[in-house]
Amino acid sequence: MAHNDAFAAQNRHWLSQRGVFAINLISSPGSGKTLLLERTLDQIKGTIPCAVIVGDVHTDHDARRLVGKGARVHQIETIHSCHLNAEQIGKVLPDLVQDGIKLLIIENVGNLVCPAAFDLGEHCKVALLSVTEGEDKPLKYPLLFSVAPVCLLTKIDLIPHLAWNENLCCANLRKIRPDAEILKISAMDGNGMDAWLHFLEYHALRAKSQKQNLGG
Ligand code: MG
Ligand code: ZN
Repeated sequence: MAHNDAFAAQNRHWLSQRGVFAINLISSPGSGKTLLLERTLDQIKGTIPCAVIVGDVHTDHDARRLVGKGARVHQIETIHSCHLNAEQIGKVLPDLVQDGIKLLIIENVGNLVCPAAFDLGEHCKVALLSVTEGEDKPLKYPLLFSVAPVCLLTKIDLIPHLAWNENLCCANLRKIRPDAEILKISAMDGNGMDAWLHFLEYHALRAKSQKQNLGG
């Protein structure tokens, strides 16, 4: 882990020096990371110069969903590993993150456990929790929800079809991280996208010297 942390510190320094704000999206498989990214790239095209790294155990399906949306995209196939590590990210940065890029979005391998423990050198971890997963994931996987300052509650368009309890879910999140910024969002119908895009724009387009780690 010390090995990984050293690479992560290098990555964060490299990104901060160039004025790039980097986020690390972490969730279980199927919570809607890639759809959110598709819609996000559509919306920030022409406003926030962006690069994307997508991690999956196998296939480049997600990267292929994201091409042609104005961002440079690189897929890492981890093959035997259920998380991305900082060394893998560091190898990709110089080619992928060209001058002028303001935002790097890393879509981690779908997994709620080890991606939370491996710092990639991002400035902010963003946890996704879909409403179909129930309310108690934050209690079952506290590490992720404690190190992510931002939590996106995704697929809210499905709420009418579920017995999902928003108050209970948010209370569970706040038990693990009292200051979590919780955003409800549906990439499918666009509800809640504004607050998410505002968050990205605010941090990505701030002056280079203000790029800072939002904290674990
Ligand atoms: Mg994906
Ligand atoms: Zn792992």
